[in-house]
Amino acid sequence: MISGQDRKYLELALEQAEQALKENTYPVGAVLVDEQFNLVAIGRNRVHSAQDTTAHAEIDAIRNAGEAIFDAKIRQKTFTLYSTLEPCPMCTGGILFSKIKRVVWLLNDEMGFGGLRKTKAAGVFQEKIDRIELIEEPDVVLKGKQQELMRAWEENPNHVVHLREAAKIKADTVY
Ligand SMILES: [Zn+2]
Repeated sequence: MISGQDRKYLELALEQAEQALKENTYPVGAVLVDEQFNLVAIGRNRVHSAQDTTAHAEIDAIRNAGEAIFDAKIRQKTFTLYSTLEPCPMCTGGILFSKIKRVVWLLNDEMGFGGLRKTKAAGVFQEKIDRIELIEEPDVVLKGKQQELMRAWEENPNHVVHLREAAKIKADTVY
């Protein structure tokens, strides 16, 4: 059962994912909150908009949290991270470094770079990863909204299929 607080922040993460899509990049959004469910930081994918392969939504939120993460390390505070898509291996690393004790995501990433469940299943960094509560796909309606955004992304000119086609057309053109 999803709590009102979880729903509010998952919806905020979805708004960030929508904004990312408008910016012609992967529709993924993330939100970081503290133990009292105060908003700490928001983030969204900027891979295409910033031409930065490491600019994932979760990393963006962690970067935007800035000194809050360091303050948390000193004061023994912990965070919840919400993401609209299952974190990839890179973001899983970022999560392990950032005092995050709970991760909630809307859609499992079976086709792409879903990494959090695989990392846990592999039993690597087990002591650290076992301290994190993982909540996958807690709400079918919100999951559906992320799936819609992913479908819209497939139509986007920055989708890798369209970029490859564009590059091929360019290569075939004789000037
Ligand atoms: Zn990632």
